Amino acid sequence: MSHILENIKEVEAKVAAAAQRSGRKREDILLLAVSKTQPVEVIRQAVTYGLSSLGENKVQEIMDKYEPMGEGVHWHLIGHLQTNKVKYIIDKVDMIHSVESLKLAEEIEKRGAARGIVMDVLVEVNIANEESKYGVAPENTEAFIRQLARMEHLRVRGLMTVAPFVENSEDNREYFCQMRQLQVDINAKKIDNVLMDVLSMGMTGDYEVAIEEGATIVRVGTGIFGERDYSK
Ligand SMILES: *Cc1c(COP(=O)(O)O)cnc(C)c1O
Repeated sequence: MSHILENIKEVEAKVAAAAQRSGRKREDILLLAVSKTQPVEVIRQAVTYGLSSLGENKVQEIMDKYEPMGEGVHWHLIGHLQTNKVKYIIDKVDMIHSVESLKLAEEIEKRGAARGIVMDVLVEVNIANEESKYGVAPENTEAFIRQLARMEHLRVRGLMTVAPFVENSEDNREYFCQMRQLQVDINAKKIDNVLMDVLSMGMTGDYEVAIEEGATIVRVGTGIFGERDYSK
């Protein structure tokens, strides 16, 4: 049996158990297979085993894999997106997880309008205030979302964060909890054209804790595909 199938079974079991612990249904959580650096033959195995939503952090990789992977898969852009590259992916991805500047949002709005597309987006939050991380500060998130709410060709669906790299996933629980609280608080404002139903947080090292704290999308790469090989 392929090691990918073994990995998926293990991750699936953990996702299901964490969903149950948090009193939610397994179907309410999307396991996004982060396929960056993986070749299409390998990604196809994950799709065969039921993971059809794929996360990539580079525009170029989506463009390279889009045609070969064909229909039936859903691409999510999860990494930093340069404004000048929006045009390449506007018609290819289901969701952009990494909106964190007005300039980027305006470009998505413009490209979406030209194509008649309403793009689902998440606002990336730098929840732990890390200098090395992209994202808006938690205290600026609501004001930022109010600016995006006026744009007709993007729709805010919620929040995303890349939590600190930690040895012990419990160390990120407070950040996931703060993200959930931010989601709930902004949702309570009932801003027109804003749906706060998505919370994208948790990676291989901490997705179980993230689910316990309310994640609706977990982004898992290494846990499914094994260690990445960046040499190619
Ligand atoms: C690479 C990446 C992931 C997945 O990381 P793993 O630790 O391999 O699960 C998740 N989110 C983002 C934004 C990434 O770039």
